[in-house]
Amino acid sequence: MSAILAYTYEAAYHCPQCTADRFGLAVQARGVAAAVDSEGNEVNAVFSWDEWQQFDGTRETLACDDCGMILDTYTPDAERIDMPDRDTQEAKAKQAYDLGAEHGRNAASWYFDGNAPEGLYKWVLQGLAEGDPEVYDTFLSSPLSGEWAGDPTPRDVWEQLDVSEDDGAADDYIRMYEDGFGVAYADEVERIARLHV
Ligand SMILES: [Zn+2]
Repeated sequence: MSAILAYTYEAAYHCPQCTADRFGLAVQARGVAAAVDSEGNEVNAVFSWDEWQQFDGTRETLACDDCGMILDTYTPDAERIDMPDRDTQEAKAKQAYDLGAEHGRNAASWYFDGNAPEGLYKWVLQGLAEGDPEVYDTFLSSPLSGEWAGDPTPRDVWEQLDVSEDDGAADDYIRMYEDGFGVAYADEVERIARLHV
């Protein structure tokens, strides 16, 4: 389970890999709104808590329009016997993503120091638009590494979510947190840079 199941563009669903192949690192690293399709529509992410199903009472699958990979399956309630916790898991996944996003926004506020030259803001904005790896390399990417005193660790996240580290989805929640962090961090760096050019 990853926070982002698929992307929508050209009126169809596409897997993250096919999306990255087409749009490059900008979409892979940031998830949403970093690219437009041939009709000028924004590329949007389908999160694991989004409802992509038609709920027509049948078993449904979400598949990539390019490579055909199955990205998610949905079984109507009447047939569900082995995943009674799915709703709880999705709610906790979203909560983890939101916690990561909040942390990402806060961390991004330290990216530029107060005296950054205008050229730096422009370099970052251009790099974000083009998916330049040199710019992404300057971003914090391991928010739970505990590298700095006071930084949260996975244990703190599990505590906030009220789940045990033995929970079957514990590691998934950490990935959600990191996904939320990465997207919000880049968005906030971009927002700040735009205020200065
Ligand atoms: Zn694909």
